[in-house]
Amino acid sequence: MQASQEVNEWIDGFLFVANRPILDLLNTKPVLADGPTELLPDVRALERWLIASGIVVSPNAKAVVRSWRHSTKATAFLGQLISFRERLREAVKRIENGSSPTDAFLAEVNLLLLHHPRHTSLQKRDGMVVRETLFEPRKTTDLWAPIIDATADLLAEAEWSRIRKCESCVVHFFDTSKKGSRRWCSMNICGNKLKVAAYQRRKRGDNATTN
Ligand SMILES: [Zn+2]
Repeated sequence: MQASQEVNEWIDGFLFVANRPILDLLNTKPVLADGPTELLPDVRALERWLIASGIVVSPNAKAVVRSWRHSTKATAFLGQLISFRERLREAVKRIENGSSPTDAFLAEVNLLLLHHPRHTSLQKRDGMVVRETLFEPRKTTDLWAPIIDATADLLAEAEWSRIRKCESCVVHFFDTSKKGSRRWCSMNICGNKLKVAAYQRRKRGDNATTN
């Protein structure tokens, strides 16, 4: 049971605990044993994250993204995405602190929404017609469409109080629990660690009184 949970939390070396891939984009810079660690150091890592996050799904889209491994435009896009990730982190921190994103950040998101709209198409599924999002990137900047669409959904989220940071690390998540009482990024990563620490503190306290 625990092992399968861990498998679900880490996909291809990336953490997916946020319930929202756009928040897990923030979680591509976790603090590991050696300190803050960039999990998106190059285009190859970005390609793996886009597939692991479920943003790039179709065989055609995967092939297109894979063809960018040595593309300077893809490297440039990654640089822009990383700096956007940090501005999004600031906006999320403001929400977590009971404030709201800055007007400048909303203006930036609005501009990206305008230039990179998310396309949809009608498909027949089981005799019904359904509207599905269509993501078949042709150029590297097309990757903004799903990223900025998810950003807009997050910021327009009605329950900002469910956007939170783990109590013991830098990981952000969207709390989907019924009671809204989730405290940690994951039981495996921080939950158990904190429980063990509390146990050890109690134990040390006991020792101190007996000494
Ligand atoms: Zn944590």
